[in-house]
Amino acid sequence: MAVVLIQKSHYQQGRPCGWSGAPGECEWILDLCGRIDAKRQGIFDVVWSNGDLQSGESDAAFNARHPELGGVFDAVLSVHYDANIYAGQGGWFWDRARYDPRATDSDRWGAIFQRRYSSLPGCPPLHLERRNPNTYDYHLWRQLGAFPQLLVEHGVGAPGAPDHDWLRANVDAIAATHVQTIVEFLAISTPVRPRLVIIADIRRLLDELERAR
Ligand SMILES: [Zn+2]
Repeated sequence: MAVVLIQKSHYQQGRPCGWSGAPGECEWILDLCGRIDAKRQGIFDVVWSNGDLQSGESDAAFNARHPELGGVFDAVLSVHYDANIYAGQGGWFWDRARYDPRATDSDRWGAIFQRRYSSLPGCPPLHLERRNPNTYDYHLWRQLGAFPQLLVEHGVGAPGAPDHDWLRANVDAIAATHVQTIVEFLAISTPVRPRLVIIADIRRLLDELERAR
């Protein structure tokens, strides 16, 4: 089964949300990642990562706290939203490392996500020109081997920002979009119903037959 590393960006176990990232971003990411996790069961495996550089922390020190980053992955995803820093304008964009050794694959992934995400009703406008050192020199890219990678700033989502309400009303559809995008990108063949659902159905049927005897 394909293995995708997904970073619960700005979240760190044992530290309350809010020390890193835009206002409300960590909480929204945890909601999104929980929904991705529910939808990807039986379709692809996920290695979860999290966190951000502590103030003054080196890449090596961060790496020592995140042994999961030494794994081998089919794809690496980091999910975010922006603070209200664009003169009150909403919008979203995706990025990958500027010197990504798998740039061709990463860009194909980004294009699939862009096609699917932009088709969600009411999706914020695309602003690829907002790519910046925080996204193309993102600390996670410096930690990993050569795997396809995607960072998504899903919108301008802080409280009071233009995309705040849309991001929360559509978090489940956004999670589904990520799962569908990864299925398409990695060419995962999925049964009409996930295997675990089929097994549960068979168990229920056997129970009914048992009771009817
Ligand atoms: Zn972020």
